[in-house]
Amino acid sequence: METRMPSPKPSARNASIPRKRVLLLGLSLLLCVGFFSTTLISYHVSRSSIRESILTQELPLTSDNIYSEILKDLVRPVFISSMMASDTFLRDWTLRGERDPSEMVRYLREIMARYGAFTSFFVSEATRNYYHPSGVLKTVHEDEPLDAWYFRVRRLMEPYEINVDPDLANRNLLTIFINYRVLDYRGNFLGVAGVGLAMDSVRSALRAYQQRFGRTISFVDTTGRIVLYGNGEGMEAGNIDEVPGLRDQARLILAQGAGSYQYVRNGDTHLLNVRFIPELKWFLFVEKTEGEALAGIRHTLYVNLAVCAFVTLLVVGITGLVLSRYQVRMEELATTDKLTGLLNRQSLDVLLHQAITRARRAGTPLSVLLADVDHFKSINDTYGHLVGDEVLRRVAANLREHLRESDTVCRWGGEEFLMIVQDCDATAALLLAEKLRKAIADNLDLAERTTGQVTMSLGVAELQPKESAETLVGRADAAMYAAKDAGRDCVRLG
Ligand code: GH3
Ligand code: MG
Ligand code: MG
Repeated sequence: METRMPSPKPSARNASIPRKRVLLLGLSLLLCVGFFSTTLISYHVSRSSIRESILTQELPLTSDNIYSEILKDLVRPVFISSMMASDTFLRDWTLRGERDPSEMVRYLREIMARYGAFTSFFVSEATRNYYHPSGVLKTVHEDEPLDAWYFRVRRLMEPYEINVDPDLANRNLLTIFINYRVLDYRGNFLGVAGVGLAMDSVRSALRAYQQRFGRTISFVDTTGRIVLYGNGEGMEAGNIDEVPGLRDQARLILAQGAGSYQYVRNGDTHLLNVRFIPELKWFLFVEKTEGEALAGIRHTLYVNLAVCAFVTLLVVGITGLVLSRYQVRMEELATTDKLTGLLNRQSLDVLLHQAITRARRAGTPLSVLLADVDHFKSINDTYGHLVGDEVLRRVAANLREHLRESDTVCRWGGEEFLMIVQDCDATAALLLAEKLRKAIADNLDLAERTTGQVTMSLGVAELQPKESAETLVGRADAAMYAAKDAGRDCVRLG
């Protein structure tokens, strides 16, 4: 019966623990760096390709679509207004002196009904009358701020302007007016005609575009004023140089016009495509936040990182377990004797020194016993090495059986066994040695294998004050030889 001994090489074991930790730490580091860098690199690659495709394909495409949609919705009123400005009836009626206002009112009503406009108007230069489908609304005055638009258009170099203003005739609803200059057949200024669109209907059209295309859409005039915007996360009324993040680029955008831009607002990167709509003299801003576009791959990134962390933990855990087992096995191999399973001589050296220190500190006696099988050579010679081995195994087991748990036994040499007996003086050690000698001599099992008696000679020595381990074992060895000399199968004290 073998007892597990305390580890004979504490210093070696202690040294191997930090080494193991360093190894596991290194492995974790390697796996982490490998896994996480590939995951992050692939995330960044997909992110930049997604960003690239949003900027170079998705937003320009949306912009194209919206542009063609907007043309349908907003350019139509420009055409209607242009048609009004060149209408012979309108010009002739004005040149004839605006004699019957009801004719003009009917004409405007017709235009409004036929083309589904929100409002239609004509302001005559000669009378400054403001004609409206409901009648003559008022006359415009140069010193009236609300009429400033008329005098602006009067001085305009271009044939028309698009203006967002409250409509006086319609409960001051915000309206987009197409103000078209009307000229007579010789090019003299006759007034301003055009139609108006309710801002709300344009805004809801914008909202519909936003929903359809999943982007934020707004219109900015050449001064940077945000004239139209769909509700939601996008722009708000004001100037683009008041939009956080866009402030620095506002000038550049207005100067450059068309192009792709990026800005950070509320911590999210906005990808922006800008194009100029010459028909409206407005910039079309189509933008998308990077966050929503990247939500999918960000989710994949988190899943990947979790998998990486899990695999790293698993690999490090398994490696740690395998290393621990391997270490225990290596230690066992290094400290035990293969044939008998007892401790080997190297490990006993350490244990003997420890036992001596402990006994001295505790002031308790300590003895060693050295046993040598008698005439073992002849057992080998007569029955062969295999039987010799078996005898050694059984002697070892027998010795272990008769010793206490706290005692240490090792295979000291070929057929020699050294025992350290704690808390045991010479007298008690002699008694124990005698008990062991008798146990081996009386062992029927051993006798059966060798068809004779297996005996051993034992030398006993008690630790003396200040004595070294080597001298102590030397005295036990000498005592063992004394026992041999005394005829073997006996015990002697050193
Ligand atoms: P003595 O009574 O004087 O001790 O005689 P002895 O024959 O036992 O002494 P000796 O030291 O001459 O012989 C020891 C023998 O033990 C020699 C060696 O071949 C044998 N031996 C040593 N290790 C082993 C082993 O692992 N297995 C076997 N079968 N024999 C071993
Ligand atoms: Mg010997
Ligand atoms: Mg011998």
